[in-house]
Amino acid sequence: MTRPSVDTLVRTSIAKMTLYASNREPCAIDLSDNTNPRGAPPSARAVVPQTNVDLFARYPSHYAADLKGAIAAHLGVGPDEIVTGCGSDDVLDSAIRAFANPGGALAYPDPTFAMVPYFARVNDLEPRPVPLLGPERGYDVDAEGLLAQRASITYVCSPNNPTGTRTSAAAMERLLAEAEGVVLLDEAYIEYAGDSLVRRAKSQGRLLVVRTFSKAFGLAGARVGYAVGAPELVAAVEKSRGPYKVTALAEQVTVAALKNDAAWVETGVRDVLSARERFVAFLAQRGIASLPSSANFVLVPVRDAAGQAKALRQRGVAVRPFPGLTGIGDAVRISIAPWELLEPALPAFEEVLSCA
Ligand SMILES: *Cc1c(COP(=O)(O)O)cnc(C)c1O
Repeated sequence: MTRPSVDTLVRTSIAKMTLYASNREPCAIDLSDNTNPRGAPPSARAVVPQTNVDLFARYPSHYAADLKGAIAAHLGVGPDEIVTGCGSDDVLDSAIRAFANPGGALAYPDPTFAMVPYFARVNDLEPRPVPLLGPERGYDVDAEGLLAQRASITYVCSPNNPTGTRTSAAAMERLLAEAEGVVLLDEAYIEYAGDSLVRRAKSQGRLLVVRTFSKAFGLAGARVGYAVGAPELVAAVEKSRGPYKVTALAEQVTVAALKNDAAWVETGVRDVLSARERFVAFLAQRGIASLPSSANFVLVPVRDAAGQAKALRQRGVAVRPFPGLTGIGDAVRISIAPWELLEPALPAFEEVLSCA
């Protein structure tokens, strides 16, 4: 018997892909992944030690009914408008599978969240990047260009990762009115920006709003995300997703955070917004420009993303390098922490970014 070549065993679309991996080496001041630098919310600290470990001997609920109820109460929508998942990554992947047949297209603004073309490919869809409008148009999405793709799915992230910019209301309305298929709106950073479209999702019919507990809620390691949409859309995503994707412990912690930690989340958001203003001013005073941000990070165009990110790491500060972004070039994305956590990193930024 000869050992078969892996290429003959692996699905073509998967064989062609490279594994997603960012630099997770520990670093004194980690501003690389937009998670909550204040740590987990207070109720996680209360719930976890009280948890009976025998919880792990049984399956969790199929579709996280308690969590749906808590999210519904938090947002003022019905539980039948909500689908949860193992992080919003899982919700995006399941939605992409639910709303397009293999060979279909997924249109998205470029640059945006790196997992989107990844999930398009694993589901055998053609990724169709459409460049963001330039600085003179505020890095808004090109609604015209996205619509012209006539894609089964149009993805938009607002505020957008990694630019931090928002989709204008006009562009969003146009997409919702004229898109052919489903519009996935990723609101991973909406707590920092306000004006969520979750309340519009049910009546709109083609809109699915995707959100996460990984950022402002401080629960990235719990892996919980969700989407809000018309019950028929949500039901399709749930079928595509399958049962048991939210662990029993993650469900308990997230429900507790939703019930008890709203004020903690709000304080964190306020701290980040004021620190962002000070940080952007600090950079500007040193001639370092950043894109206008509505999120808990700023994108700074640089000469050499990899080299300057490495130089920052050598000074104990981790940021995320983005080499060769469409329409922007090399850039580094810097997560905003409350000022007292950000301040010790300022000398490194001044030294490494001033000579861009
Ligand atoms: C961080 C992030 C997410 C969150 O992913 P999870 O799987 O929920 O941790 C989703 N979308 C965007 C744009 C993000 O930046």
